[in-house]
Amino acid sequence: MGTDDAFAELGLASGASQGEVKAAWRRLASQWHPDRNGSADAVVRMQRINQAFEEIRRAGFSAPSSSSEPSAADHDAPASHPPTDPTTGHAEQDAGETAFDDDTATRRQRRPIHRKVKLSLEEAAAGCIKVLRGKLTQTCATCEGAGHQVLGGNCARCGGSGAVHKRSFFGWPTGTAECEACLGGGIARQPCAACRGSGKTAARAYQVKVRIPAGVRHGDLLHVDGRRLRPERLAADLEIRIELLPHAFFTLDDDGTLRCEIPVDGFAWLAERPVPVPTLAGLRPLQPSRSRVSYCLEGQGFPTARGGAHGDQWVTLVPVFPQQLSTDQQILLDQLCATTSGAGGRGVDNRLDAWRRGLRAWERGLGG
Ligand SMILES: [Zn+2]
Ligand SMILES: [Zn+2]
Repeated sequence: MGTDDAFAELGLASGASQGEVKAAWRRLASQWHPDRNGSADAVVRMQRINQAFEEIRRAGFSAPSSSSEPSAADHDAPASHPPTDPTTGHAEQDAGETAFDDDTATRRQRRPIHRKVKLSLEEAAAGCIKVLRGKLTQTCATCEGAGHQVLGGNCARCGGSGAVHKRSFFGWPTGTAECEACLGGGIARQPCAACRGSGKTAARAYQVKVRIPAGVRHGDLLHVDGRRLRPERLAADLEIRIELLPHAFFTLDDDGTLRCEIPVDGFAWLAERPVPVPTLAGLRPLQPSRSRVSYCLEGQGFPTARGGAHGDQWVTLVPVFPQQLSTDQQILLDQLCATTSGAGGRGVDNRLDAWRRGLRAWERGLGG
């Protein structure tokens, strides 16, 4: 019975308030209870009224319509003991415990299992397989999740009125309260023996492998059909939210461009020594040039779209020089400068010669 049907069974519009539901149920229960109603369909009718009440109660009174989806917060509670993922060595994501309905003929399940998967940039770029572990509980088949079974007959606690007298500390009656034994219905019920009143089966551990496609981004949602999972099928689908872990070197632009800054020995950079550069595919040597610090590694970036071609990687070299020079270094640098700037030194290139001439002409103009 869907929630809309349940409201209809009680003669209410979908989204009726808790008070309206309880009042309608009490009225119908007193009308149709087999103890009070001798008609042939009283038992069946009473069962349907009870089912409808349980369905609405289970869906939550605040639910405005037939939507009984739980909020994601129900499922994203972090696990206290995250197991380790053997395929990657990464700590496993929140192994939440998730409730979902039985795989019945009418509905396979209604709630997907919400999971978060944390990926390194390398894993996200190449795609990977993640092992997800968690626990599932299923709705108890015996009581259909209600946690109790309706026995029929008047509730022993309240005698069928649905209300009990509250008493003050001194034993004086101080009004009435809803009977907890029958939830105000006045009909005898007992906790379900199969599920010990919880409405759910005992949590069962699951472990599935999920293929993460190449090129997923932070915040992406992957919907995985639970029936296609291996090594075991799940009766619920998985809704996986991707989280990209911050990277030690790389930042990622929206267009798939990957950027990294690499500090290099300034002298080695002047000498144009190759620099080992990290890429998503591993280290590769970069041949620097003294004339520039930025380099584009074409096609070495992140996929521009899921499963698409890779963007570029931009590498910026940051030449680093010693704060304090040793005497030897100072002597060597003085010698080096003398080769270009000192008496008899050879100019570095035409740009510098032109600049020097222009500077002298400008200075003369100021003096005149
Ligand atoms: Zn049960
Ligand atoms: Zn009662």
